[in-house]
Amino acid sequence: MTGTPLADLRTAEHPTAPMVAVRGLQKWFGTNHVLRDVDLTVATGEVVVVIGPSGSGKSTLCRCLNRLEVAGEGSIEIDGRPLPAEGRDLARLRADVGMVFQSFNLFGHRTVLENITLGPTRVRRIPRARAQAEARVLLDRVGIADKADAYPAQLSGGQQQRAAIARALAMRPKVMLFDEPTSALDPEMVNEVLDVMVSLAADGMTMIVVTHEMGFARRAADRVVFMDDGRIVESAGPEEFFAAPRSERARDFLSKIL
Ligand code: ADP
Ligand code: MG
Repeated sequence: MTGTPLADLRTAEHPTAPMVAVRGLQKWFGTNHVLRDVDLTVATGEVVVVIGPSGSGKSTLCRCLNRLEVAGEGSIEIDGRPLPAEGRDLARLRADVGMVFQSFNLFGHRTVLENITLGPTRVRRIPRARAQAEARVLLDRVGIADKADAYPAQLSGGQQQRAAIARALAMRPKVMLFDEPTSALDPEMVNEVLDVMVSLAADGMTMIVVTHEMGFARRAADRVVFMDDGRIVESAGPEEFFAAPRSERARDFLSKIL
């Protein structure tokens, strides 16, 4: 591991394996079959944007990837390793698979700097001074270096979301999942968050991004995956996908959001 955080975001330990390999994933909530035979392979450094109607299973897929949900059938490998079941390996998985949610989920009673150093010091066992130095580098990177000692409530929504991104990055994740990271933001704050995500993509971070921001998909996605009713219906490069979606479902969906 290098001393400078994020000099290179390509952190694969097994560079010949895909960073994310999902095969035959099935997930039920009771009788509701919400993921239906999902296959998804994401190469190291690849940026995959996932779109689809509400309820199509996008969040559940993300949550299965860091084991916030347990799939019913199928397999998931991150960087060539199957998802661990429990214990210390699970904490390690949550560090490897960074997740940024729609709601920012910062700890309200801790400063921004403390929010960012908590995981590295406790899970990664990085000494406090070093974790703090790295956190300041990350805060600078996401453009809120001056907010280190502020509390989340003193930040705008866009600043909070950028702090949440810095917090995930501080764990040196191998892949970052973003589940509608800008949906809860006031419109004028959307771009400051998307710009940070575009820069992560440019620096080689492997990313799975659930978003309806098609401008982001065009700028940063290597591939767009369209989900409907628990299935991956289409997977194509953004230019191809937006110019000529193959399925009626995708055409219909795009006509509603564009
Ligand atoms: P999306 O993110 O695409 O809107 P979700 O993954 O949130 O879709 O939801 C997929 C389906 O799973 C929906 O039918 C939803 O109601 C259901 N679902 C999601 N989470 C739960 C849960 N914790 N318990 C029961 N059903 C759930
Ligand atoms: Mg969702």
